[in-house]
Amino acid sequence: MVEPNDRRTAPESSYDEVLAVADRHARAWLSGIRERPIPPRLGVDEVKDRLGRSLPDHGEPAASVIERLADGVEPGLMAMGSPRFFGWVIGGTQPVALAADWLVSVWDQNATLGTVAPGVVAAEELAGEWVVDVLGLPVGSEVGFATGATMAQFTCMAAARDEVMRRAGWDVETAGLAGGPAIRFIVGEERHGTVDLAGRFLGLGTPIAVPSDEQGRIRVDALRETLAAGSGPAIVLLQAGNIHSGAFDDFGAAIAAAHEAGAWVHVDGAFGLWAAASPRLRHLTAGIDAADSWSTDAHKTLSVPYDCGLAIVADGRPMHTALGVQASYLQATEVGADPQEKVPELSRRARGLPTWAVLRSLGRTGVAALIERLADAASRIADGVAELSGVEVLNDVVFTQVCIALEDDAATEALSERLWHEGEVLAMTSRWHDRAVVRFSVSNWQTDAAQARRTVDAVARALADVRAGVR
Ligand SMILES: *Cc1c(COP(=O)(O)O)cnc(C)c1O
Repeated sequence: MVEPNDRRTAPESSYDEVLAVADRHARAWLSGIRERPIPPRLGVDEVKDRLGRSLPDHGEPAASVIERLADGVEPGLMAMGSPRFFGWVIGGTQPVALAADWLVSVWDQNATLGTVAPGVVAAEELAGEWVVDVLGLPVGSEVGFATGATMAQFTCMAAARDEVMRRAGWDVETAGLAGGPAIRFIVGEERHGTVDLAGRFLGLGTPIAVPSDEQGRIRVDALRETLAAGSGPAIVLLQAGNIHSGAFDDFGAAIAAAHEAGAWVHVDGAFGLWAAASPRLRHLTAGIDAADSWSTDAHKTLSVPYDCGLAIVADGRPMHTALGVQASYLQATEVGADPQEKVPELSRRARGLPTWAVLRSLGRTGVAALIERLADAASRIADGVAELSGVEVLNDVVFTQVCIALEDDAATEALSERLWHEGEVLAMTSRWHDRAVVRFSVSNWQTDAAQARRTVDAVARALADVRAGVR
């Protein structure tokens, strides 16, 4: 018997049919994303039932597999690309980035070495240089394309660990950590949760947390005290964009204090680093270029599809030492560094190409306009909801984050539930300064003044439900 997917003849036509099915589903999803209810209708177990749980003995034609996948998964999709999706810091996808991402899959290059995949390595190198340029970071900084800010942070911190240990006379790559000087890993108390992961992955343990101010910025006086209280190798991690307030650390003073003490300074700028691309908002990141490394995401603010984070180091050498693979069967590029020396992975997709496409499509002024549009929408949402009776905006809205609360935690949680129930706006609860809050993270390229207005109206309806006791 011939299996249905056994197509040894005419392989090119086997792509046509299945891609046509995928294309039809892609267009249906994209054309509905602005208006469809945002939350998923089904959970994981129900989607598994729809897909069929057991592995079939016999195959199925590719086109019907893709039909099954699209139909089965669709009710379990969250409309994360909706211009009124504000849950977590999650970006949408610009058309040009999506198209570039399709080609990344079609070309299927292993973006490991410049000699092996020069086309995509060239585009990624340009994308990296343009990101460094648009963010005003030091010319010549090295850029690695990681899966997200979590791994980008890990990547930079691996370089930091190499360098601060080398300065202390210890070769961590050869000798490991045991028996060497302890590294002090110093962070602000309101760091993102993934910062602790980097410490764990790299054997640095739980970070030393320095008190933050009321907006979540590290207190520089407290940082100085912490630095003075010890000695030896140190890494200080600062933040551009607090997930609750959007606040930015005082980079000028904090970096100077850390460098005086011989520390490496890394900046977690997963979404906030992009403020540097706007002449109007750049003041928030003043002094940031003096740090040693920065991590950010393209899949948040820049609106490329998942996944793409950027690990940026001013001096590439410790990055190459910490992450590069040496083997006779890898034909290293003679000039400059290969992608595999800048990220934890060896084999990976050319995930930097959508970033190249977005930057080429927007240009310097378009990137600035995108960032300003997000920040303006956040201000409009904050101003609009502040006028609703009983709503308190808790943060200084300096960038893209808005945190609101009602008079007590139960009412605040009910507000978020009513928004979820209606499905027009999605904003999740969190806890900030011992209070339940509803957090709006504006990170979608399509969120403009009109969407901000619709958001305020939806919050007003949800609030009326809460007041009427609808639960
Ligand atoms: C999202 C985020 C991260 C983690 O980034 P991923 O892309 O999810 O890995 C780290 N720090 C901050 C401030 C973030 O907002």
